[in-house]
Amino acid sequence: MAKVPFLNLYDINEKVKDEILASISNVIESGWYILGEQVELFEKEFAKYCEAEHCIAVGNGLEALKLLLLAYDIGPGDEVIVPSNTFIATWIAVTHCGATPVPVEPDEKSYNLDTNKVRSSITSRTKAIIPVHLYGQPVDMEPLIELARENNLLVLEDAAQSQGAKYNGRRVGSLAHGGATSFYPGKNLGALGDGGAVITNDQAVANKVRNLRNYGSDEKYVHSEIGYNSRLDEIQAAILRVKLREIELWNERRRNIAKMYTVGLEELDIITPYVPHFATPVWHLYVVSTKHRDALQEFLLEKGISTSIHYPIPPHQQSCYKKDYAEIKLPLAERMSKAILSLPMSPTLSDEDVEYVIMSIKEFFHKLT
Ligand SMILES: *Cc1c(COP(=O)(O)O)cnc(C)c1O
Repeated sequence: MAKVPFLNLYDINEKVKDEILASISNVIESGWYILGEQVELFEKEFAKYCEAEHCIAVGNGLEALKLLLLAYDIGPGDEVIVPSNTFIATWIAVTHCGATPVPVEPDEKSYNLDTNKVRSSITSRTKAIIPVHLYGQPVDMEPLIELARENNLLVLEDAAQSQGAKYNGRRVGSLAHGGATSFYPGKNLGALGDGGAVITNDQAVANKVRNLRNYGSDEKYVHSEIGYNSRLDEIQAAILRVKLREIELWNERRRNIAKMYTVGLEELDIITPYVPHFATPVWHLYVVSTKHRDALQEFLLEKGISTSIHYPIPPHQQSCYKKDYAEIKLPLAERMSKAILSLPMSPTLSDEDVEYVIMSIKEFFHKLT
């Protein structure tokens, strides 16, 4: 194994292993495994954590996005504005609803949605905007929400990478009409399997998502919609309840690591993440940018340091979307994908690990000159 892994999930889960085992044992003994007490309690606790009125736990992050869009009646003929530089799930959720993802290039400093660029992409078919709090960095939501209000659009947050992040002191995900998140094992709040959730302050939307996730049913064997099967398991909910108690501590550790990186890499020919005044990020990823990206990644690998790229191919260049987006130019997303590098980031990294990464990057740049 690498000296410094990119992310070691074992180390994270090992810290709470005894509590997790006890919680799984309780679920086994309860004799109830789908939509029971654990999911209900987790939904209450996660809603409170997100400062949202409602949380509906579902099968994964993609389904959370999709059910949220469907609950707002987004479908064929509708356009939904998405970032050009996101994980492909944001786009796929829109496509699954029959609507069209309309990509907008990011702000060059923050890598997040830029309200001015969103403005010029609005058409008479636009129904919603999906800001993604990419890498755990909050999007500048106020101007975006204002723009949406002027144009009668929905703002649906993709908060899969940003559990716990704050925008002007308020948790992301519950800042607008609704949010979706993912509990994929590698997220800041990760299950030991798949999971996701919708959060919203709108009671009717919450009811609709609750109905859709369970075969379009509010009452056993009575079906008002042709719904889906997308439910969080009791066992995963029980595990997430244990890990939710740790997330603030873990996010704080991520912030300390990020600070070490930012200070340590200051004088090098490398662009470190920009943190706007409104942001309390949670550093799902620590992404630097350099024109020597590939050489740096290889050099670090030789030093026993694993890094990653989020993401090497933007959605519009993936073969599943390439044909439909052949006419569309997104040079920024393309340029970014060739220059970005995600450094090791995990709450279990030691100061020595982080210092070793910084030292190795310095060594790489000194050799260059
Ligand atoms: C992980 C992720 C998702 C999807 O989550 P899954 O649980 O893997 O389906 C959606 N959007 C973004 C930005 C993500 O990072």
